[in-house]
Amino acid sequence: MATSDFKLTYATMFNPPEELHAHFEDAVKRLRSQMGKEYPMIIGGEERKSAEKFENRAPWDTELVLGRFQKGTAEDAENALAAARKAFPAWSKTPWQERVNLLRKTADLIDERIYAIGAAMSMEVGKNRMEALGDVAETAELIRYACDSMERNDGYVVEMGRDPLSGFNSRNVSILRPYGVWLIISPFNFPCALTGGPAGAALVTGNTIVIKPATDTPWSPFMLAEAFRDAGIPDGVVNFVTGPGSTLGQALSSSPEVDGVTFTGSFDVGMGIYREFAAGKHVRPIILELGGKNPAIVSRHANLDDAATGVVRSAFGLQGQKCSACSRVLVDETIYDDLLERVVALTQKLVIGDPTQRIVNMGPVINSNSYNDFRHFAEDLRQNGTILTGGKTLTEGEYSHGYFCSPTLVTDLPADHPLWKREMFVPISTIAPFRTMKEAMRRANDVAYGLTAGFYGSPEEAEWFFENIEAGVTYANRPQGATTGAWPGFQPFGGWKGSGASGKNAGGHYYLPLYMREQIRNVVSRD
Ligand code: NDP
Repeated sequence: MATSDFKLTYATMFNPPEELHAHFEDAVKRLRSQMGKEYPMIIGGEERKSAEKFENRAPWDTELVLGRFQKGTAEDAENALAAARKAFPAWSKTPWQERVNLLRKTADLIDERIYAIGAAMSMEVGKNRMEALGDVAETAELIRYACDSMERNDGYVVEMGRDPLSGFNSRNVSILRPYGVWLIISPFNFPCALTGGPAGAALVTGNTIVIKPATDTPWSPFMLAEAFRDAGIPDGVVNFVTGPGSTLGQALSSSPEVDGVTFTGSFDVGMGIYREFAAGKHVRPIILELGGKNPAIVSRHANLDDAATGVVRSAFGLQGQKCSACSRVLVDETIYDDLLERVVALTQKLVIGDPTQRIVNMGPVINSNSYNDFRHFAEDLRQNGTILTGGKTLTEGEYSHGYFCSPTLVTDLPADHPLWKREMFVPISTIAPFRTMKEAMRRANDVAYGLTAGFYGSPEEAEWFFENIEAGVTYANRPQGATTGAWPGFQPFGGWKGSGASGKNAGGHYYLPLYMREQIRNVVSRD
């Protein structure tokens, strides 16, 4: 999104223009007047309702019902896949230039509706307003990036060499073609970007799609599905269903009618889908974007103010519920106390509350499971380490009906404690001193994940860090966020090891081909 000369990204979001706040506040007011509305699924272009519904409640005020959504069933899964199958021949044969036009129109509509979608997202996820608007803007940019990639590569049609035959003319062309019906399952924390990004890539390459968002956050993805529809994408090309992962999601991901999947979510669920997918009749593509346990390493040559700012932003942005959250901080022992002092001071300044409010940095965690996780982790860490700040849930006054947790920093945790390796996904970060950079790197890499990583130190050290760290997205000396804040076209996003399956990052130049298969066309004619 751009207003006058301001372009919103996760790096620029800290100083937005005044008008942006006014628009956002208007949108919140408007949505507040339609709380509790019922929203349908969209299958084959039709609005569908199911017998059972579920409520979408605000995690910062659980008495507030934001909307009522359809509890889709296995039959809805089947219908959505059938609709996508039916729409595939025409959509895949639509010239890619036309698909690009429709998707650019979608991106423009998302931009136009950014405040409404952002306000809904802020309310349902508990994201602060700038993070929510960033998520929506990122969605439009991911779709545009997919369109640009298609254009830059001329629809992925490549003239190959001619066979050296005498008396014949033997022409070879490589073309990338869509797989068919693509399933997109997305998580609660980036409900638009992680739905719309894969959707844009799957669609522009000619696949038809079924979208299943997280049950905690169906509202903003519904608005996204509306944008695809309103842009004129034909019926059945984009299908939107809501309901539990364990039933509806399972019915979708285990169906032989699915030709490819993009799953973004937890390691355990993703690996389950991966294994099940492999049991199909033949090999099918699956793109997995999973969890993280992202480290920041701070050397003795670091600018400590930048390091502290970057660590706190990445540790506690979205309440520690980003896959890229900075959940581990390793600090040279000679500057350990200095850095700790700064990090604690900045953490204690964070404002917690209703995420739609301008001054609020941190909203609640997403649901009662995460809230209980926080309590259990905090108790364990209190017993086994030292809590520098936080460690408590907030229950009084404005916090009494929400899942509010204080941002928590922990030190003195033994290196072999399991919480150094487990993704907690709540606002907790653990910090430890190191003696040598080698030791820091060993610890940084000693986890099952490899998503993002941050470094603060000299340029030479940064080169060494990039060479040795095992992660798909890496940053050096970045106060805007030690491990978070990737933007399409700037920092394509994806993980290594247990954090991702494809080894290619979303919003980058290798992404689109993941949604297509190659066909070589050889035509021989006589001279
Ligand atoms: P989950 O794995 O719990 O859920 C993700 C999605 O999968 C939801 O839509 C969920 O539906 C669905 N689902 C659950 N079970 C099944 C099943 N058996 N079959 C099919 N679908 C199923 O993740 P969260 O929503 O809690 O998101 C947090 C996780 O996502 C973290 O681990 C985080 O690191 C990761 N993540 C990774 C990113 C990356 O780019 N690498 C980016 C963002 C998040 P329902 O909600 O109904 O259960």
